[in-house]
Amino acid sequence: MKSVNKSIILNKIRLSGSISRADIARESGITPPTVSTIVKELIHENLVVESHLGESIGGRKPTLLQLKEDGYYVIGIDAGSNRIKGIISDLVGGIYSRAEVEIHPNITKEEFLNSLSEVVEQVLKDYGQHKDKILGIGVAMHGIIDIETGTSLSSVNSGLINVPIKKTLEKKFDLPVIVENNSRAMTLGEYWFGNGGATKRFAVINIGRGVGSGLIVDNKLIHGAQGVNGEIGHVSISLDGERCSCGNIGCFETFVTGDAIVRRAKKSISNAPEDLTAEEVYRLAKQGRKEYIQVLEETGKFIGIGIVNFIHTVNPNKIVLGGGVLKSKEFLLPSILQTISERVLIDKLREETVIEVSKLGDDITILGAAALLLNELFYCYIV
Ligand SMILES: [Zn+2]
Repeated sequence: MKSVNKSIILNKIRLSGSISRADIARESGITPPTVSTIVKELIHENLVVESHLGESIGGRKPTLLQLKEDGYYVIGIDAGSNRIKGIISDLVGGIYSRAEVEIHPNITKEEFLNSLSEVVEQVLKDYGQHKDKILGIGVAMHGIIDIETGTSLSSVNSGLINVPIKKTLEKKFDLPVIVENNSRAMTLGEYWFGNGGATKRFAVINIGRGVGSGLIVDNKLIHGAQGVNGEIGHVSISLDGERCSCGNIGCFETFVTGDAIVRRAKKSISNAPEDLTAEEVYRLAKQGRKEYIQVLEETGKFIGIGIVNFIHTVNPNKIVLGGGVLKSKEFLLPSILQTISERVLIDKLREETVIEVSKLGDDITILGAAALLLNELFYCYIV
């Protein structure tokens, strides 16, 4: 059943932590009798509990309402290029069970789907007694996803095409499955459990092995007509740059991924070790090696240019930066912010666009995968 009022009340309770029936009515404009009826349903449906922590103003203590954090659970899967990770999470991002399976670079479609199933089986094995309370499985996958069919259409990193993730997992586990691009899942994770808050136009830019972004407008992830919205990694920023994995020349991605940082470091530093990695560049910069600091500062400038393009196209209120490359934020961020400041079109953009680095660490994508189901529950009301 879908009910707009129910969704409003449920989110009011979630976002406020604890709130009285009277305050819900006052703040939402829904009549007190309707609030009472819907709250009764929500309690009955195991989503809300009463508590008695409210401050008394003379009379008896008011009864407050809170989200029943462990009323339901969701499974989140992060299908990366090297490994597939899985969790079971409650309604507020508490993690109860973890599993992980390594995958090799030349994996076949069948092997990939088997590994996905294996991860789901493992998390369920630890937490299977609550299967009736599990809402479904959210899968975050790099590359282009057909959201309707839950198919991974193409992923440059693994080379897999047309992988029927949703169909396979739904058949095997008899649970609803939602598949989403990893940067968009990351955006949802940040929105639900990190720096998102109640931002109207909220974006995450993910810079790691590739570059992607996600945008949430009024609580909804934006996909675009063909599901390509936010592919900023493949916006060209140089006509005579390197060739990108997508075939185009000078894509943003070819300047700022971990591999790109290594390539640029090797080019500009004559005695750079042959087996240099992005982690090593960061480590050497931290040791005070100026040439490596310079490579990272230059990377910050490129990232800044990409962000300015993004701001001018999308104009979000807040951008959170995530992904492995941001681990060297102490060297990147000053030049990112300076470049943005120098290049944006109007002062208001400089003053009001909030830029932050994610604090969720490596769990951001997997929590976002879990949040795919939560977003359905809280905004479309799927119970
Ligand atoms: Zn490209």
